[in-house]
Amino acid sequence: MELRKDPITRSWVITGDDPAEITPQAACRFCPQSPAVTQVIAAMPSAVGTTWSARAVVHPTPLYHIEGEPGRRGDGIYDRMRSVGAHEVLVENRHHDRHLWRATDAEIELFLRLAAERILDLKRDARIKYVSFFKDYGPNAGQEFSHPTSQITATMFVPRRVLYELRAAREYFQAKERCVFCDIVSQEERQALRVIETRGDYIALCPYAPRVPYETWILPRTHMAGFGRTGVVRPGNLIDFAAILRRTLQRVRTITEEFHLVLHTAPNSFHPSKSLGYWKTIDDDYHWHVEILPVVGAKARSYTFKEVYYSPVSSETAVKALREARIDA
Ligand SMILES: [Zn+2]
Ligand SMILES: [Zn+2]
Ligand SMILES: [Zn+2]
Repeated sequence: MELRKDPITRSWVITGDDPAEITPQAACRFCPQSPAVTQVIAAMPSAVGTTWSARAVVHPTPLYHIEGEPGRRGDGIYDRMRSVGAHEVLVENRHHDRHLWRATDAEIELFLRLAAERILDLKRDARIKYVSFFKDYGPNAGQEFSHPTSQITATMFVPRRVLYELRAAREYFQAKERCVFCDIVSQEERQALRVIETRGDYIALCPYAPRVPYETWILPRTHMAGFGRTGVVRPGNLIDFAAILRRTLQRVRTITEEFHLVLHTAPNSFHPSKSLGYWKTIDDDYHWHVEILPVVGAKARSYTFKEVYYSPVSSETAVKALREARIDA
């Protein structure tokens, strides 16, 4: 596997003819009693007496490897580098069937704290530009393991969508001296047309211009650029995030079982970059959030063929179904 940069859009892709195959295992490799040798990186102790509640392990077939140099080099007009970075699996729960929407808020909070700590820890490496945190659930969403898991990748570049957002948020801040995400939150709260619910410092809403039907975002209502720091500086308020995340996933699952979930957070600003200006104002102009992109069967096809996203369900309609969904307390 290697990284190649598209010279037109300037976005990096990971490509190669050696797709990593995971050897099928009789038993789940992530269950506590699993005989599979798992390289544990970090674990959150459990409140109920078990040794761990959530833990981070090395991905069995990592796309990124921590060893070696990226060896970034040109090839005529092209750019390439080795896939140096980190790839971890976050085991959300020790129980094989206790997915996020079935877990307790206390368990989810421990898992979120683990994610925040892993992000901060990986950012100590000056080579790392960005840490991605994501979860794919369902066969059409690219789910890899049946055990409740999310994944983290640490890369030497900022992924394309996040880079777009960073640049756009910086431009907005330069023009208005306000964070675009804070402005979205305040307008959505005022209009109450697309808000699913608010809980403590968090809001779940359907974005004004959705890419897929029932697209949902969760944002902190108080400005904060990086999720990692929220988890460590304001750890107490992760319990509200745990609850709204669980409830939102329950709502989404009344529409479809399959979804992509991705965290968009500040890049590595511990080690300022000379070439990238957005590093300087990042704490003011970016605002972390989680995006949930449900995979809605046949309708999903309609947007994959187009360069313009097409969602046959408006956010104003989607929010009604999600808001009124029957979920646990
Ligand atoms: Zn398991
Ligand atoms: Zn903000
Ligand atoms: Zn985003």
